[in-house]
Amino acid sequence: MIPYGRQDITAEDVAAVVAALTSDFLTQGPQVPRFERAVADYCGTGYAVAVNSATSALHIACLALGLGPGDRLWTSPVTFVASANCALYCGATVDFVDIDPATFNLCPRALAAKLAAAAQDGCLPKVVVPVHFAGQSCDMAAIRALADQYGFKVIEDASHAIGGRYRGLPVGAGDYSDITVFSFHPVKIVTTAEGGMALTRDPALAARMERLRSHGITRDPALMSHAPDGPWYYQQVELGFNYRLTDLQAALGLSQLARLDGYVARRHALAERYDRLLAGLPVTAPCRHGDAYSAFHLYVVRLAPDLDRRRVFEAMRAAGIGVNVHYIPVHTQPWYRAQGFRDGDFPLAEAYYRSALTLPLYPTLTEDEQDRVVAALAAAVRP
Ligand SMILES: *Cc1c(COP(=O)(O)O)cnc(C)c1O
Repeated sequence: MIPYGRQDITAEDVAAVVAALTSDFLTQGPQVPRFERAVADYCGTGYAVAVNSATSALHIACLALGLGPGDRLWTSPVTFVASANCALYCGATVDFVDIDPATFNLCPRALAAKLAAAAQDGCLPKVVVPVHFAGQSCDMAAIRALADQYGFKVIEDASHAIGGRYRGLPVGAGDYSDITVFSFHPVKIVTTAEGGMALTRDPALAARMERLRSHGITRDPALMSHAPDGPWYYQQVELGFNYRLTDLQAALGLSQLARLDGYVARRHALAERYDRLLAGLPVTAPCRHGDAYSAFHLYVVRLAPDLDRRRVFEAMRAAGIGVNVHYIPVHTQPWYRAQGFRDGDFPLAEAYYRSALTLPLYPTLTEDEQDRVVAALAAAVRP
């Protein structure tokens, strides 16, 4: 089976992990701050807080921005459930903003309309989470302008988008948002097995997220209720978690990061090759927005309306092609339905879902394998 995504682990990666494994530190040690600095420098931002998943990063990002009971978080329905669940961990509620049918990203016009209505009703969101779907940045200038107008905070869910750019700047630079989150799950652009990171320009937000990552404990006397009892002393000043990344994982991430630009370039080359090979088939290739250089985490095609997606999917799987579907709209999940969401709430997301198909794309995919994918798709869409 050709999978839809897979990691690339080199001899250098293995050596880096073995070196960490035989060092004095297994869990958070010197590799974690090195990895954080390397990612922050790559993105041209001030601070990065490494954690054990993007889900954890989204959670502590929400907490650091003060999201709590009675507050609202809005995100896209076309995302992984984690982009919405983070609000619920904080006791806040979730709502969604429909997508732009061209980019499949949260639509700034739909956001503007929903904000205007919410301002009337006194139920504005505290946090909005734009998701850079498939690695292509959302229209962040438009979202930033709305954030300034309505006073909400912005967390970029850039789980797909490390190595991507928006208006020439790396995703994660922080020009348009408060916090940006990356995922290092193996199907994403670079991996630490499990892992994630939250980036920010704001030192206070970074310090808060560092504390939340490790039980809410501080060793900073300035934050303590009284002078330290001695050199051993720490205080728990709020309720945090154990969301730490290990040094083994950070060593893997640092080693992978050296190949990030090459990975993204290879993804682009393969995506452009797909565009050419698919040209005669009844599918729509992913659109490229002029403001964005995508990290190309996913290559998602939309099938022509007369095609039965399930039949195409099953034919591809039977042919050994690990196609997938990203994503089942979050509001249609049973847990969210139980919160009151219904079919038809976000029609563009639902229409997208009915016709979307993710084709295999990862840096070590060969052109021969890609030809097999296209041949299988051509056979599957034949009437
Ligand atoms: C993968 C993913 C996450 C969660 O990442 P983990 O590191 O697995 O927790 C969150 N949001 C989006 C959009 C994702 O694709």
